[in-house]
Amino acid sequence: MSYLFSSRINRLLPPVALLAASLWAMFAISRLSPAWQPLLIEVLPLATLSVAMLLSIRFNRSRYSFLLLFLALAWVAQTQLRGQILPATESLLFAALIVNGFVFSLLKDRSLFSIHGLLRIGVLLLQAGAIWYLVTRAPALPMALQQHEWFTLPEALAIFVQLPDGVVAAALFINLAHVMLSLIRNSSIQATFFGCQLGLLGIASGYPQDAFVPFLVTSCGLMVALAIILDSHDMAYRDELTALPSRRALNQTLLSLGRRYTIAMLDIDHFKKFNDTHGHDIGDEVLQMVAAKIARIGGGGKPFRYGGEEFTIVFPGKTPEQAQAQLEALRATIENYRMVLRQNRQKPATRAGKQARVRRGKNDPRYRTLSVTISIGYAARNPDTKLPGAVIKAADQALYRAKQKGRNCLSS
Ligand code: GH3
Ligand code: MG
Ligand code: MG
Repeated sequence: MSYLFSSRINRLLPPVALLAASLWAMFAISRLSPAWQPLLIEVLPLATLSVAMLLSIRFNRSRYSFLLLFLALAWVAQTQLRGQILPATESLLFAALIVNGFVFSLLKDRSLFSIHGLLRIGVLLLQAGAIWYLVTRAPALPMALQQHEWFTLPEALAIFVQLPDGVVAAALFINLAHVMLSLIRNSSIQATFFGCQLGLLGIASGYPQDAFVPFLVTSCGLMVALAIILDSHDMAYRDELTALPSRRALNQTLLSLGRRYTIAMLDIDHFKKFNDTHGHDIGDEVLQMVAAKIARIGGGGKPFRYGGEEFTIVFPGKTPEQAQAQLEALRATIENYRMVLRQNRQKPATRAGKQARVRRGKNDPRYRTLSVTISIGYAARNPDTKLPGAVIKAADQALYRAKQKGRNCLSS
């Protein structure tokens, strides 16, 4: 549990670290020769935004494409248009960018060139038109909004002098929402939006230092590029259905094993019949349930989805005797677990409904419970099986013997 929580916190670390690094770099740059400074200030933001934009388009991560567009607009507004447009226009623009950032973070990634992508671009153009109309034709309204006392922020936040307090308060609230969503959903996209929205707020503040805005833009561009690369790695090495590391990840782990290790192969019993009786969707749910139990294996075991309804657990540095106790406990946990299903397959809308469903469980005719068992074969490295591939084969043969013994048991 604490491991799961720390992995959620970890998602927020790269954005925070990159923002901190940009602040450090902003002061460090003054030590560089003056010839270099303007080059870095002008080239770095454009280079990182371009690379991140290319990655986001190549990997079809349109939410990131839009986020990068918002960052570019904020950068241009703060560096090129500063002093040329009214503070009220600027406030309106930044408020729109931050609110759009939040809304876009909640959408699905759709290709920019699909009907959904074009629709989103259309909505943004409409907003740009509305802002332009307000500013040129009805400037009284944005001025009134700018001057209205929506909210009074503490003095400590007074560096955000250009933005009305209400906009700063809303932006901070939106940032909090990104953090909460990132923690609740374990979402890297929400963590990245959090970092970039915080960066946007910093850009909007226009702290009077030449490198401040360009370096914030640079760190946000790096944040997005890093998130796209790490997410792609995750997609390649993690199984989508069960969220366990995939076969490819297993192959990598096998390359890094030492001289002593034990490998277990696990297989759900009579799963074909289970699928035929209850349907493939319930089969998938059972796979997820079994994978969730396997993920909690103790004793330093590393779980993987080998393929289909077969799983592998690698115990680096462990003897078969040490692995056996963990595997036996896992087998018993899965045997004793009752999955409660409602007859008409409607999911309860609330958490309370879900708990009630589990409480009523067996006694309620509207609900039925299902359970499965697994068979396990395990083997260790020995003089005959020196290569991991051979150990897996030996574990597979042991699994076959467990099936022969009548299933729902271990064999070595
Ligand atoms: P045994 O006890 O001998 O292992 O019998 P079994 O029926 O489990 O063995 P078999 O390997 O013949 O069948 C595996 C079945 O697992 C076939 C397929 O229907 C099911 N299966 C494989 N992958 C998935 C999946 O991703 N989702 C679902 N729902 N079923 C899957
Ligand atoms: Mg099988
Ligand atoms: Mg099976």
